[in-house]
Amino acid sequence: MIIVGGGIGGLAAALACGQAGARPQVLERAATFSEVGAGIQMGPNVTRTLHAWGLAEDLKEIGFVPRKLEAKDTQTGQIIGTLRLGQRSLDTYGAPYVTVHRADLHRVLLQKIKRSGLAELCLDSEVQAVQQHADGIQISGTNLAASLTEFSKSAAMVGADGLWSKTRQFVVTHKAPRVTGLLAYRALVPMQSVPEKLRLQDVNVWVGPRVHAVLYPVKCGEYLNLVVVVQGPPPATLDDWDHAGNKQDLEAAIGPIHADLRDMLAAVPAWRLWPLCDRPPIQGPHEMAKGRIALLGDAAHPMRPFLAQGAGMAIEDAAELARSWARADLQVEDRLQMYAQARWARNAQVQQRSIRNGQIFHLQGPLRWGRNMAMKVMGESLMDVPWLYAGP
Ligand SMILES: Cc1cc2nc3c(=O)[nH]c(=O)nc-3n(C[C@H](O)[C@H](O)[C@H](O)COP(=O)(O)OP(=O)(O)OC[C@H]3O[C@@H](n4cnc5c(N)ncnc54)[C@H](O)[C@@H]3O)c2cc1C
Repeated sequence: MIIVGGGIGGLAAALACGQAGARPQVLERAATFSEVGAGIQMGPNVTRTLHAWGLAEDLKEIGFVPRKLEAKDTQTGQIIGTLRLGQRSLDTYGAPYVTVHRADLHRVLLQKIKRSGLAELCLDSEVQAVQQHADGIQISGTNLAASLTEFSKSAAMVGADGLWSKTRQFVVTHKAPRVTGLLAYRALVPMQSVPEKLRLQDVNVWVGPRVHAVLYPVKCGEYLNLVVVVQGPPPATLDDWDHAGNKQDLEAAIGPIHADLRDMLAAVPAWRLWPLCDRPPIQGPHEMAKGRIALLGDAAHPMRPFLAQGAGMAIEDAAELARSWARADLQVEDRLQMYAQARWARNAQVQQRSIRNGQIFHLQGPLRWGRNMAMKVMGESLMDVPWLYAGP
């Protein structure tokens, strides 16, 4: 099995499929394995899978377990809803809710693969084209080892090459991501540099007219991860998702906000800017696998980050791919179809819900007031996501 892309999705697939006996080769176009600096939240549906792969202890070392998620109004500073995480996540879903730094999670996956020798890792290897034949697959690209470009009868290929995937075109016809008109400003600051009374042990989601901000501790609580999402025109170049962000532009887009949030944002010396792109929710299994090629993670279902599940769905995909791959009684194509059948509807549901969350976060006028009232009255039952956290 060839896996194109060595991000979180590609490495998760390599680990899971390696454990299922696939002997994967990961082709990563970058010269070194690395991840851009930012945090990710992982619900119990995701940590459960990582635990099953033998990563529970690693996760304890790199993760932070927030006590709760608090939703606050950007204008009034009032808490409008609380979802208990910490012990409740363990009691209700049997696994923790954890925040991590992406680079730490990526490193842990990489170390596990290297120690186990379960997969071959090839850097500086960019895949450009793939040809699918009835009885095998042929790939071409830059710097690929000769053995890979030879026609191989038994090979399957997994496209885990992210939002701007080159492998997607070999599975779906409408392939381009769409620009959402939303910009994510991201930063990571030492918790010490945040005003003492505002230092966090929790996930805070500030929601307001045309803006929301998500803040949570990472690196065992030593750093604060901040993401502020506003409306705005994207930078001229889109296919690199990490740009320098301008503080004045951000302040102008946010408008007036409560002093606590303003003081937290003031602790940030420099912002990174990520223009948000996605694709419409997946329509069926045919968008996740075709013949001997399967798509996984952002290559298959890039989503808005408003349910904090993009990497989570890539990890769930990887677990399902390994389960399907283990069906040695089936042909390769049938195993990949089985994977696509098992995954497409859940990924579509998460994509859809992420879009809806973004709309709810940014409500204004009477709708904003209605949202706040509903969250106050219905509380945790409105914020919990049992169909998601209980797992696929
Ligand atoms: C603001 C923001 C906040 C987010 N927060 C969360 C969160 O809290 N929780 C969560 O679960 N998710 C979150 N996400 C989503 C998450 O970051 C992504 O869904 C996830 O990283 C996708 O992983 P991936 O491996 O599919 O793709 P990528 O991380 O993009 O990896 C793709 C890899 O493929 C390589 N590659 C590309 N093309 C080729 C090629 N032709 N040949 C070889 N290699 C190639 C790339 O170099 C890269 O290493 C967030 C996203 C954003 C933008």
